[in-house]
Amino acid sequence: MSESFDVVCVGSGITALAYAASLLETRRGTRIVVLEKHRIPGGYATQFARPKHHARFDVSLHKLSGMGPDGNLREALKRLGVFDELEPVFPDTLFRACTGDTRITLTKDPHAVLEALQQRFPDCAAGLQTIFDEISTYGYDGYMQFRTLSGEYEPDLKRLRYAHTVLKTRSTRDAIRERIPVPTLREILALPCIYVGAFPEQTSYLYFLHVWYAVLFGGSAYLRGGSSALTAALVRRIERGGGRVVTRAEVQQITIDRTSMRATGVVTEIGHFHADEVIVNTSPLYALEHLVDRTLPGFDTPVAAHTATHAASSTTTLYVVLDAPPARYGLVDAETMLLARDPETACEARACARRAPSEAALSEQAYWHDSSVEVTNYHALDPTAGHVIVVNALDTIHHWPERKTDAYRGKKARARDALLGRLLEHFADMQGHVRYVELSTPRTCLRYTNNTHGSGYGALVEPSSTKHAPSRRLPVDNLRFVSHWVSGSGYEATVGYGAMLGFQKAKDFT
Ligand SMILES: Cc1cc2nc3c(=O)[nH]c(=O)nc-3n(C[C@H](O)[C@H](O)[C@H](O)COP(=O)(O)OP(=O)(O)OC[C@H]3O[C@@H](n4cnc5c(N)ncnc54)[C@H](O)[C@@H]3O)c2cc1C
Repeated sequence: MSESFDVVCVGSGITALAYAASLLETRRGTRIVVLEKHRIPGGYATQFARPKHHARFDVSLHKLSGMGPDGNLREALKRLGVFDELEPVFPDTLFRACTGDTRITLTKDPHAVLEALQQRFPDCAAGLQTIFDEISTYGYDGYMQFRTLSGEYEPDLKRLRYAHTVLKTRSTRDAIRERIPVPTLREILALPCIYVGAFPEQTSYLYFLHVWYAVLFGGSAYLRGGSSALTAALVRRIERGGGRVVTRAEVQQITIDRTSMRATGVVTEIGHFHADEVIVNTSPLYALEHLVDRTLPGFDTPVAAHTATHAASSTTTLYVVLDAPPARYGLVDAETMLLARDPETACEARACARRAPSEAALSEQAYWHDSSVEVTNYHALDPTAGHVIVVNALDTIHHWPERKTDAYRGKKARARDALLGRLLEHFADMQGHVRYVELSTPRTCLRYTNNTHGSGYGALVEPSSTKHAPSRRLPVDNLRFVSHWVSGSGYEATVGYGAMLGFQKAKDFT
């Protein structure tokens, strides 16, 4: 097989689908093909079913930020023409935080959240006010970055300068410590770092403010039918516009002409796809190491830059099916955070694990036992998924043995016991009512998506004092990376970025 296209996309993650759909939305008939190695499209934006257990598990979607009336994601989905095909579900609460016998519920109303926290932690009222003011100013500016790039929003330059010199250079952990004296409240406030696959000590405070803005002020929702509903809507859009999404088509090589230094297409096991432009949705480092001839001139600098990038966490995920709706056993909210028993000890344990990343005992203690973990009650969001709940622990791949070994199987059993134990510790009534469990690991993430280190969220956004990121420009100008490694993590950022580039590309054509 040998065919010619205007654009070929390597990978069908949500960013590539948004890119292709937006390009075709304005320029119907563009010859575009999206190639996916897996048997279904979507990358992390997918589900899998266990019919015997009447269960459907979402691989990644717990909440979509930016789905409120003025949210960026809602706006992007409308421009893509898919919003009306989706059924958003807006839970009443942002999340419930459980620690010991304390349970604190954060509603979806930003003002009510601030008030409730100030009442609960009166000694922290001033610090809370400061943080919420920072969320609604600096966080808002960060949230509007794509609209700033497209000229729709003009931030206050003085405010921006302060944000970049002072807030971007602080870690979330340090900034919260300076403002809040109570450890439990610090941990609660830091929880949204989980949404971008990071811990507070790894995350720039400015980015943290942006993430809080997105989930709380931007409005969070789930989708009936899960992430597959979004993927399917985008695929339909692409096909209606004349594009194609081809699965089971693993790209083996991106071809680049040495003389012109232009990408000419890709080679797959089912044939050669020639193209005027190649859009790479995979992890950039994976693509540079496996798909591109690195002996070509000018590739050393971007390879070094991407090698130096720190991947955000991967996840160890426990999929659970109960014999009845989770609410019967006390799990009522759509999302519950099981807080670290002692956040300071957890932070120290993570620091130890990072110093010796392949030491299994250190990482298991730090990530599975000590740190806060997230629980999604899918039954509350979409009962058609079954009596399903999912426990997510941020994790790293470095202490996981290769798949299909006894060591791997043994470790999976330990992870399952640890995460199930965390769940039952808080919801003891579930004991005896768990009908089915299944575990996915950082190795599963790597195998299915080729994301470097099995990252679920692209690159870390660390505190940094450097004005500009090291150059990641490629010496080939018709080859471009689009994914959470470039845009930042999550559906809102990836769909927004993919759509922005797709609409821009459509303009370039005309
Ligand atoms: C457990 C978990 C929970 C999450 N929860 C949320 C959430 O609740 N809300 C939220 O907003 N975000 C969440 N995220 C993050 C979000 O899912 C991701 O940021 C987003 O889906 C990434 O999309 P992407 O387009 O960058 O690429 P990916 O989804 O990584 O897609 C890359 C694609 O490239 C394909 N590919 C790789 N190599 C090749 C090749 N050689 N040939 C062809 N195809 C190839 C892969 O198969 C894959 O389909 C979560 C992530 C995880 C892991």
